[in-house]
Amino acid sequence: MYKKLVKADTSIRMVALKNFIHPLYTSLVYATPANFTKTVLYHDPEVFVRVEVARALAKVQEELKKKDLSLLFFDAYRPYSTTVKMWQVVPDERYAANPRKGSGHNRGAAVDVTLADLSNGKAVPMPTAFDDFSEKAHHNYMKLGKKVLENRKLLRTIMEKHGFRALETEWWHYSFPNAASKYHLMDLSFQQLEELTRCN
Ligand SMILES: [Zn+2]
Repeated sequence: MYKKLVKADTSIRMVALKNFIHPLYTSLVYATPANFTKTVLYHDPEVFVRVEVARALAKVQEELKKKDLSLLFFDAYRPYSTTVKMWQVVPDERYAANPRKGSGHNRGAAVDVTLADLSNGKAVPMPTAFDDFSEKAHHNYMKLGKKVLENRKLLRTIMEKHGFRALETEWWHYSFPNAASKYHLMDLSFQQLEELTRCN
């Protein structure tokens, strides 16, 4: 399915983000038990997104570099079966995507990110840890220190400038609009994607 669709329209191809951003800082917690489900959700992950999304992220990174900052990724493309697993553990639409609709992550059009120090990849202070599903993670939560408010706002401003849309309830989640009509849901493993994207 993926091969056929990409052959018909190469602009929807998936790419490894490490080919667009170096160094690429990651903290892929779904590959460890240190995530909200307390189980390992996938193995040997890599940051994959649609090429259009990768180009936009590279521009974000360029802009952050001027401030000695970098993006740091918690998750990007996620196989559809991972969304199903998450739903089995937490069947609550406030915290996880309903598999009936799928997630922007399954389409390679959403990323979970924070800001980090460019020199060492250390995350800057943000309102909460990743996947904290309290109101503290909402963009309109203001009872925070000045620096934290500034960091959250900087991430949002730069991501939106380059075409991403924020999610009001999760300060770390950004997606490309109209993903559902442009990009199909995928359940390819990271290994399969690695093989499929090796030539681009
Ligand atoms: Zn997300």
